Amino acid sequence: MRRGANSVRYVSTRGAAPELGFDEVLLAGLARDGGLYVPDQWPTLSAIDWRALRGADYHAIACAVMAPFVTPTIPAETLAEIVAETYAAFRHPAVAPLKQLGANDWLLELFHGPTLAFKDYALQLVGRLFDHVLRRRGQRIAILGATSGDTGSAAIEACRDRAAVDLFMLFPNDRVSAVQRRQMTTVDAANVHAIAIEGTFDDAQDIVKALFNDLAFRDTVNLAAVNSINWARIMAQIVYYASAALALGAPDRPVAFAVPTGNFGNVFAAYAARRMGLPIERLVIGTNRNDILARFFASGAMTIGAVEPSLSPSMDIQVSSNLERLLFELLERDGAALAAWMARFRASGTVTLEAPRLARARELFHAARVDDAATTATIAEVWRETGELIDPHSAVGVRAARLQRGDPRTPMISLACAHPAKFPDAVRAATGITPELPPHLAGLMTARERMAVLPNDRNAVAAFILSTLGRGTPRAAGDAA
Ligand SMILES: *Cc1c(COP(=O)(O)O)cnc(C)c1O
Repeated sequence: MRRGANSVRYVSTRGAAPELGFDEVLLAGLARDGGLYVPDQWPTLSAIDWRALRGADYHAIACAVMAPFVTPTIPAETLAEIVAETYAAFRHPAVAPLKQLGANDWLLELFHGPTLAFKDYALQLVGRLFDHVLRRRGQRIAILGATSGDTGSAAIEACRDRAAVDLFMLFPNDRVSAVQRRQMTTVDAANVHAIAIEGTFDDAQDIVKALFNDLAFRDTVNLAAVNSINWARIMAQIVYYASAALALGAPDRPVAFAVPTGNFGNVFAAYAARRMGLPIERLVIGTNRNDILARFFASGAMTIGAVEPSLSPSMDIQVSSNLERLLFELLERDGAALAAWMARFRASGTVTLEAPRLARARELFHAARVDDAATTATIAEVWRETGELIDPHSAVGVRAARLQRGDPRTPMISLACAHPAKFPDAVRAATGITPELPPHLAGLMTARERMAVLPNDRNAVAAFILSTLGRGTPRAAGDAA
């Protein structure tokens, strides 16, 4: 059977894993060859299709953008139902509204979901897609993750009360903010479990990796992941780039975006929107002091450094896993070449992109490093100039946009990735004002907390998961049958 030109299959960036359909990619996470899944071709919408979406609501744009990626696994009517249910719960009628900051500068507000960060826009949808696909397959999964901040609460809100999903979220005990912890521990749902590990974020992350590598355990509990290597998260993020671009005149007028970046997931969704046919002229990347991406786009050298804490903790990352998806394109989709590249990076901690390929990337991408002082100054500046309070991550993007502005006639859209009340200390330090939590979270600081505290020990975590799920102890991987 021939596939329609606008329905995709998924291939690994390292070229040695089986090709998958959408439901398998949704559940797979990392490919078996260590790569990330990407569509085998970029579906495009014509200028006529895009024009027809101007003035449409967020739901209609979401269905049009995502349909080619989920067909034929999810029929159009089912997608429409899931999308409607997902975004009905967001607190702004436009879902992802634009605010004008300056003559031709805009802010795309992505904090109107339940946990006040952009991750809700994808995870709220992905939780429902999990349920739909698992119900049809008669399966359950156990999602395991580690978080140092926003991902944990967004994943918990997305998975609470999902019938086919159990969620175990590890975080470092006493090392996340009170707001962040309470967003995880006050959720009253029997299938979600916040687990404080007596250790650092890296310890929690190591436990997650060890349990994913324990194949006997992995199979016993049907382990799955929701970090940003999951293709479905990128797919759902393409929608707000399309909605903002259409609102400001696409496809007949080019636009530019500025994106505060850690794992390169969000800005890769912007790249995907461009590949789908939107006239995105420039993508500005803002990094904090953890600037591996700014250094990469300046020199072509990808060189790992030590992670240092900053005012924008959700971007305190030195290995941007989603950059692999862009490298795959820059290497003309040569999976074997990319696998060799990544092996060299892992062995030596540094690897360099050839000049002509870097030059191609720099036609679109422009990066800037924004330190804590500039972040604070930008929060203050935006407050003085516009009366808007922005969070420190958003400030990194706004400052990068100002440093790397191209044609002034092109609208520059900066992403506001979190609500200022998620980072009240940084906002207060810059402006003297303490941003207030929206009404639905007003009771957060007094609600009852529920969490397990476990030692920094993978066996303790495995035992907790097995007893919670009511499963027995798995055989160790090496035991005879
Ligand atoms: C996760 C997060 C980021 C970084 O996004 P990436 O997709 O990892 O680049 C930036 N800001 C906020 C508020 C976040 O929660």
